[in-house]
Amino acid sequence: MGNDGGSIAKRDELVRTKASLEKVDPELLRQSLWTICSLSRQPLSPPVASDPLGRLYNKDAIVQHLLLRHSEASSSKLDPIAHIRGLRDITDLTLTPNTLYRPASPTTAASDEHSVYPFMCPLSSKQMDGKQRFVYIVGCGCVMSATGLKSTISASEEETPCPVCSKPFNAAGLLKGKQEATGSVVTINPAREEEEDMREAMEKARAEQAAKKKTKARTADQAAEKGTAQDDAEKAERKRRKAERKAEQSARIAALTAELAAEQA
Ligand SMILES: [Zn+2]
Repeated sequence: MGNDGGSIAKRDELVRTKASLEKVDPELLRQSLWTICSLSRQPLSPPVASDPLGRLYNKDAIVQHLLLRHSEASSSKLDPIAHIRGLRDITDLTLTPNTLYRPASPTTAASDEHSVYPFMCPLSSKQMDGKQRFVYIVGCGCVMSATGLKSTISASEEETPCPVCSKPFNAAGLLKGKQEATGSVVTINPAREEEEDMREAMEKARAEQAAKKKTKARTADQAAEKGTAQDDAEKAERKRRKAERKAEQSARIAALTAELAAEQA
């Protein structure tokens, strides 16, 4: 009797959680974004990697997932990282350990001397806790706060050495004062709207790349013939991407729901 009651209550709670995901404690969400692997839901621990959407992952989790994806005959439709086609789509990050970091524990309360956020900006020493914009440089993977990075760039040069590792990168987007959806610098854990822009830019860049490949492989004669077929293929590809996006979103919601349920249990 008691058991039955208990499990029903739990299920109700889960349904409620799903229905009102927007009302999730924003603090909890922020903490999860900046301390937990987006894929395995395990605490972030180097080597950490990111993708064109600026999500944070434990690299091991991605490698395992990709291996599993290839070995499984019936690939799951709920692939939470469908937009990562392979290791070429991720960047290994160079992160700076937060000197105030202490792993969360029930006995130590959060204080000014303790932080649950494991990383910080190497330039400004600000914690990487979602309170300010953090970015990574695609070419080298160095992670820093956006303000820290901007402060090191002189307005005259487009090719600038990374302030952490000195490898040159294209700072044109930063110099123009606007964050570009795709470019040499990627925003980590962007806000929802910005993430949409980044996703669109990523898909556009990939479509262009694919088109370039196709054109190369095709002679001019074939081009005229295949015009319609290509249109159809593009339509199908768009449809597939849309389905993929939807599946990815459901998978994220499912993961978050499970996590919240576990926390409430
Ligand atoms: Zn660097």
